[in-house]
Amino acid sequence: SECEGDGLVNRKVIILGDSETGKTSLLIRFDQDKYTEGGLSATVGVGYANKIMVVEDAKVKLQIWDTAGQERFRSITRAYYRDAEALLLVYDITNRKSFSNIKGWLTEISELAKENVILLLIGNKLDLENERQVSVEEGQKIAEDSGAIFTEASAKSGEHVEHAFLSLARELLKTS
Ligand code: GDP
Ligand code: MG
Repeated sequence: SECEGDGLVNRKVIILGDSETGKTSLLIRFDQDKYTEGGLSATVGVGYANKIMVVEDAKVKLQIWDTAGQERFRSITRAYYRDAEALLLVYDITNRKSFSNIKGWLTEISELAKENVILLLIGNKLDLENERQVSVEEGQKIAEDSGAIFTEASAKSGEHVEHAFLSLARELLKTS
């Protein structure tokens, strides 16, 4: 993708995963360092957020796109995937189904995303450790098999959220 006049590297990132896994909440936590309990309807996304990340001496501007409920119907279009250099794929560690569905998401990604797209898998809702239905090892395994970066995180507590986006930015700069 292009550089602006200021020499900033721009990268488009899209967030995918089942409804209710916390995609919008992760983006709001990252963008505004805020969290609203149950305050977001499933059909409300934030559109997108722009964030400039500094990694060592380099800067990258992430334009991160959120879905607006169309993931509920698995009706994300080819156009949405177009030009995305990175994908953030989210499941909920307290929802087994959202993890089983990762396989389907990976299939769709292999069909619709750029071939060399960077993939970050996030197991969200880490604050709900006592309701966990998916082990860390299971998350690591599927990430390894699909060449994804992996982390568990919590949009609610904020744990590992900044770190997750930083690893993504670092990876994007490597390939720029
Ligand atoms: P989306 O449909 O994937 O965009 O998910 P939302 O961001 O709308 O979140 C779905 C629900 O999960 C809301 O009630 C959120 O408050 C809640 N939620 C999101 N992230 C977390 C988290 O890290 N921990 C907990 N406990 N709840 C979360
Ligand atoms: Mg949402």
